[in-house]
Amino acid sequence: MDRYTRLVELGWNMDLLRSGTVMVVGAGALGNEIIKNLALAGVGNVLVVDLDEIETHNLTRSVLFRGADVGRRKAEVAARAAADIEPQINIRWFDTPVQNTLGLGVFRNVDVVLGGLDNIQTRRDLMRSCMLTDTPFIDGGLYFLDGDVRTFLPPFPVCFDCTMTQDERDAGWRRWSCLGLLGDDGAGVGPTAPTVASMIGGLQVQLALKYLHRDFDGAFEMRVPNGVRIRFNGFADEYERWDLNRETDCPTHLTATSIPESSITSIPHGADMAASQLLELAQAELGPEAYVELGFDVVHSLQCYQCGRSEASARRRGALGIAETMCPTCTPSTCAECGHSIAKTIASRPDLVFPDKVDCASCFESNPLVLRDAQTLNRIEPDSAALAYTLAELTVPMMDILEARDFDGQKSMYLQLDGDRDRVFGAS
Ligand SMILES: [Zn+2]
Ligand SMILES: [Zn+2]
Ligand SMILES: [Zn+2]
Repeated sequence: MDRYTRLVELGWNMDLLRSGTVMVVGAGALGNEIIKNLALAGVGNVLVVDLDEIETHNLTRSVLFRGADVGRRKAEVAARAAADIEPQINIRWFDTPVQNTLGLGVFRNVDVVLGGLDNIQTRRDLMRSCMLTDTPFIDGGLYFLDGDVRTFLPPFPVCFDCTMTQDERDAGWRRWSCLGLLGDDGAGVGPTAPTVASMIGGLQVQLALKYLHRDFDGAFEMRVPNGVRIRFNGFADEYERWDLNRETDCPTHLTATSIPESSITSIPHGADMAASQLLELAQAELGPEAYVELGFDVVHSLQCYQCGRSEASARRRGALGIAETMCPTCTPSTCAECGHSIAKTIASRPDLVFPDKVDCASCFESNPLVLRDAQTLNRIEPDSAALAYTLAELTVPMMDILEARDFDGQKSMYLQLDGDRDRVFGAS
């Protein structure tokens, strides 16, 4: 207990911190500070999600990374460094996009979600999962010498999406869907200050620790302000705080209402189960014409109108780029004029890609581009193309909660994939 004496003097209760579970999305500059602080404070259980690799320029802004770590996964290196700080910590890392990695059942089982991201779409997706499961979301952001923290706690009088304009939502989706699922170091965001990352990450963790103590009868009351933005102005050297406003037409508020805990049935299967098996479970409860909502669109086949070929696929809509959407038969692989790779032009010069042609990045000759039609599905139902896949292949995340409905949508139930619990949280 010696180790935590000073923290106990601050009013922290170590049992509460040790039994707490915090999800950290993003292990860049901000994530490093967040994870470091959680480990120093003795928070017992941490999930880290980041799909990026460490690059040399990360070393000036990431306390948990060393030169020898360049090329390794940010999530793994950050998690190992945290375990070096506090060997008792149960820290789990994931290096795939959070959207198809950690499902609603994970959100329901963590105390707080901390965001250390720079892309809007992932924040909107996190906000949605938090609202469906009554999980607090404390988001951090950095911009030049500025930084800010936004708090969104149940019952969510305001949410992250309320703070967006429709243009920002569209731009966020476009950027996310063009480049696939962006990591926290996505391009075009502007430089951020590691000094400010310490301040913002520190504030996020302090709020999270207070949240863990919300019902604790300690020396002083621990309260976390809900629906506020706390901004550090790095030019004026001032903190400002103001209340965020609910937007009446907020798409997340209109569609994401909390799933009542009493309506959730845990099943002993994970996301590696066959979609057909899940449908059978739903049918056993809700009748032969029951179906299961996925909650997102999956592209299940790509069809070329020109050559008539179709290809089976199971990719989340939005994560499919032009390179995957173009017909490999009808689009030449190299420039007819100079032989430069068309795929390279698509990857490096999106400004040269048009709906029906690609202008070669090397010689600017126009080459034909044929994009295929994406056939999508958003539910598992009798005779559906989804039945050929496992849930994971359909990009259903681990421990997800899926809604099953009867034929006319009158009766419904929620099924939680509990078979993934150990893969997410570690063997208990
Ligand atoms: Zn909202
Ligand atoms: Zn074709
Ligand atoms: Zn060319």
